[in-house]
Formats: sequence, C-alpha cells, structure tokens
Amino acid sequence: MDLIFEKSRSGRRASRIPESDVPEISVNTVIDNHLLRDSVDLPEVSELDLIRHYTELSRRNFGVDAGFYPLGSCTMKYNPKINEDVAGLSGFTGLHPYAHASMCQGNLCLMYELQRMLSEIFGMADFTLQPSAGAHGELTGVMMMKKHFDTRGEQRTRILIPDAAHGTNPASGALCGFQAVTVRSNEEGGVDIDHLNELMTEEVAGLMLTNPNTLGLFERNIEMVARIVHAEGGFLYCDGANANAFMGRTRPGDLGFDIIQLNLHKTFSTPHGCGGPGSGPVGVAEHLVSYLPVPRIIEKNGSYEWDDDYPDSIGKVKAFYGNFNVMVKAYTYIRTLGPDGLRKTSDMAVLNANYVKEKLKPYYDLPYDRPCMHECVFSGRRQVRESGIHTADIAKRLLDYGFHPPTIYFPIIVPEAIMIEPNETESRETLDSFCDAMIAIAREAKENPDSVTSAPHTTPVKRLDDVLAARKPDVCWCS
Ligand SMILES: *Cc1c(COP(=O)(O)O)cnc(C)c1O
Repeated sequence: MDLIFEKSRSGRRASRIPESDVPEISVNTVIDNHLLRDSVDLPEVSELDLIRHYTELSRRNFGVDAGFYPLGSCTMKYNPKINEDVAGLSGFTGLHPYAHASMCQGNLCLMYELQRMLSEIFGMADFTLQPSAGAHGELTGVMMMKKHFDTRGEQRTRILIPDAAHGTNPASGALCGFQAVTVRSNEEGGVDIDHLNELMTEEVAGLMLTNPNTLGLFERNIEMVARIVHAEGGFLYCDGANANAFMGRTRPGDLGFDIIQLNLHKTFSTPHGCGGPGSGPVGVAEHLVSYLPVPRIIEKNGSYEWDDDYPDSIGKVKAFYGNFNVMVKAYTYIRTLGPDGLRKTSDMAVLNANYVKEKLKPYYDLPYDRPCMHECVFSGRRQVRESGIHTADIAKRLLDYGFHPPTIYFPIIVPEAIMIEPNETESRETLDSFCDAMIAIAREAKENPDSVTSAPHTTPVKRLDDVLAARKPDVCWCS
C-alpha cells in the first residue's frame, strides 16, 4: 500500500480555505527569516483519496470493534457507544483547563460524584482522579505510603511484591526509593504465607498485591495477608487494574486494603491501547485521606470547589485533567449499569473465563487448575515438548483465524504462558469460535507444525523481526 505522501499530486486539494478577511501582515516582520521554511512537505490529495486511504488503513488495524481481543490483564472489553455520545457533549469537550470553578460546576459535580461512586463500589474513604494511568496511580499510591512514613520519621526501605505481579509494581516502588523484594507464590498460585511472614518486618512499607492476581486467581488468604502486613505497621496496596473480576461482589476496603488504584480504561469500558488517554484513580482508607493529591474537589453548600488546603498532601501528580472525557465515559458506564449491572458484569467476566478454561483444558497445560476469576493462564509447554511449537507461534497462528492473540509470556512464573481474558461482553458463540481456533491450532501443532511456525499467513505484514523493530525502529517517512 502506498503512503499518503506517495499518493500526493501537486495542487490536488481536499478542502479550500476561504479568503482571508483580515489585513495581511508580513510574517517576516514578526518572525526571523531564518526560522521560516519556504515550503512544508505535506501530502496533496483529494477528499476521496484521503477517505479511501484512511479507511483502508483502519481495515488493517485490529480493535475491539473489529473482533475478539482476549488480551489477558488488559480488559479489552466493548466500549459502549453511549459513552462516546455523552463525552461528546459540548459542555464537556469545550471546557478550558483554566476555567474558573464557578464556570464548570457541572464538570466538577461529575468528578465529585465519580469519586463518591468509586469510594462506594470499592469500600474506600475517598478517591483522587488525578493519575492518568494505572502505573501513574501506583506511583501516587506508593508516594502516599512514603509520605506517611516520612511524616512520622520512620525509615522504611523495602516494599514487597509477589512474583506474579505486573512489572509496573516494582517500578513504582523503585521510583519512590524503595527496594522491591519479591514474595514467592505457593503451589496454589497465592501468596506464600511463610515467605511473607519471613519478609514482613518494620523496614517494609507495605505489600503491593494484585487481587485477583495475574494468574486470574483470588487470594484466598487475603485476610491473613492483611493481618501480617498491618501487624508490622505496613500498608496493603491493591493493584485494581482489572476490577471486573469482583466489583459488586466484594470491596477491597472491606478485605483490609489501604490503597487501591483502578484503571478506568480497563474495568470501566473506556478505550485504551495506542497510548490513548487513560485514567488511574486512587482510593484510600480513612487514615490516608490527608495525603491525597491536591487540589481536591470538595462540595460546599451544594456547589463544588477546588481545595488546596491539605498540608500533608503529596502535592500535584498532574497539572491538568486533560483526560476528563475518560471520566465522563466511566461515569456514564456506571450510571448506565447501576449496582446490579456492575455485579452482573463481574459475574459474566468470571463465567466466561471459566468457560474458556474448561473448554481448552484438554488441549493445553493448565498449571493452576482451580476456579479462576476474570482470566485464565495456560502454558504452551506441552506443545513445545511434543512438537517444538512455542507460545509465540500459537499467538501468530491465531491471527490467521481472525483473533487477536492473548497476552503471552506473562505472568513470568508460568513458562510459555498464554493468558486469556475473554471479559464479560462476549457472546457464547464468540467464545466457542475462539476455543475452536485454539483447539485447531493444538491439532495443527501435531499434524502440520510448519503451518504454525510460519504463521501468520493472512495478515498485511507477516512475521516481524521483533528485535530489529525494538533496536532500530524505522517510523519516519522521508522524501
Ligand atoms: C494494565 C495494568 C497495569 C498498568 O496500567 P497502565 O494504565 O497501563 O499504566 C498495572 N497492573 C496491572 C495488573 C495491569 O493489568
């Protein structure tokens, strides 16, 4: 396919700019000549060429609107179109970041109510909406832990993180100056309690726990874990990126968590991927409220204000709420579903994951064979042993069947991991055809391994050189 620059023909236009009706001034009098270019190398195409070019490109892309996208730990769920309608209201899109509070009461009200709703759903005292991603939320949460110990003059140098954790967890701990110490998982895929007991001392700021963890398993000993961490004065942090496993069923605040970060761009159906804006609100228990970022949105006699007057606050973690429309979409989602809908969402996410797990169990190794939550993790080691086919080959072959591959090689404690998160929005027919494809690939691995190792065969680009792409990315078009 040609680049848009290659389709360019001099003088071709998609639109015409009206004649200027203000007096012209020579730019040279305002801007120094050597700073100006004679011409700008922009493509010149007709409107039809433009439409066809980008429509063709969009067809080569893959997204939730194009097909099943079971990317484990990423919750690529359907994004209801009503969210877009509401976020597109001009009162939301036209807001200026410096608008005075008195001029954006509706917007502040929405944010305030979203904070209250999240507090209720997750059992926390209060939430901040400042962080713009999950990892940013983690950082904010760990900064609050640090501030707490600094304020009390306590020297805590370590933070505990299970071996199943998302890579952002140790990174967030390290950014705040803590040494990340790994806690082993037990045979059941939960926290090894003996190891936790051994590591949890007064030098430890807390434990960052993903629950359900990245194996898709609920931590059965969560109350005991909370007791052990709290007994040494530490905090229990919840990585709540994938809360569609339990929202409406249980509340992290009730389980003993002191801090939680959510990913609105996962659990609450706002689009993500491609680095688009996310939102990583952080909730805290009562004893940590004073450390929340400022300014906070407060309600006073029915109106909403920004309040900076929190002396213990960690300060700002972001200048502007540029991701405001993500909050509008999440708010719409919560209001559309209501409490019963949120509960049903979790129920369906768990049911779908267990359905896929049971269907694929005869064909792929399942290292932790127990009921899962919103995702299940297989291992491709049987295929490696029997036919020399690796998980990466299976993932590439799935593309030929029209499915986005699951997350692979994560969590790292499972060799040749295949991490499937079907989520709640998919129909039984879709799950069946995905499972049929996975089963067909397991058969191909035995009978016709070449068709798997040489996949994909049907995509616009075939197997890419991952190393070269990472080391020497060529993303620039130059004439
Ligand atoms: C996605 C995810 C994160 C990171 O969230 P970002 O928004 O990508 O920064 C952290 N932890 C878990 C378990 C996740 O799934």
